[in-house]
Amino acid sequence: MSRILVIEDEQAIADLERDYLELSGFDVDIEHDGKAGMKKALSRHYDMYILDVMLPGIDGFEICSKIRNLRDTPIIMVSARKEDIDKIRGLGLGADDYMTKPFSPSELVARVKAHMARYRRLTNSDDNGTDRSITIRGLRMDPESHRVWVNGEEKSLTTKEFEVLFFLAEHPNHVFTKEELFRRVWNMDSYGDIATVTVHVKKVRDKIEKDKNNPEYIETIWGVGYRFKR
Ligand code: CA
Repeated sequence: MSRILVIEDEQAIADLERDYLELSGFDVDIEHDGKAGMKKALSRHYDMYILDVMLPGIDGFEICSKIRNLRDTPIIMVSARKEDIDKIRGLGLGADDYMTKPFSPSELVARVKAHMARYRRLTNSDDNGTDRSITIRGLRMDPESHRVWVNGEEKSLTTKEFEVLFFLAEHPNHVFTKEELFRRVWNMDSYGDIATVTVHVKKVRDKIEKDKNNPEYIETIWGVGYRFKR
């Protein structure tokens, strides 16, 4: 099911958007504050973002350009002010569409569907039909969308957490030192702070392992590093 993040500080509008989108079969998350919204937007996979422009904390312009720097996911911006629409165009923030409040919720739904369909066509024509996702003992990882499921339940990983996990899973039973992982996943020399590897592996385990002391997937090889158990 496609998941949409709505960042909108006006409760009534957010609720209305959610009601209509859910009726059309979408999963909807809502954030009312810019800062929390930005964090949510980047912490997990979404198929669409609907951003209000005027928000407490961080405004919609900034959230839009931040998302666009990292992802191609469609973005619809909404604003009560007509001049914001010109600004969105002028700044080239990468928004796919914009709507002025008040708008009809069914018009919003229609545009959401259109942009999602277009995006799907784009991404499908880009790949060569090979599914690179890996499934091992109930753990499924999809490198296209960076999504992870454990026994069907989706887990929310950051980009780097996903990359560490996926890299290890692509090389099952191979023991990697922290230095190697740092070099391969972070693309840097091992002179950087390799403690970041330990931190990321711990966070991944917190999210995917039932028992962190007896991990089912990422095993610690004491004094050496980590390996993904096949
Ligand atoms: Ca607002």
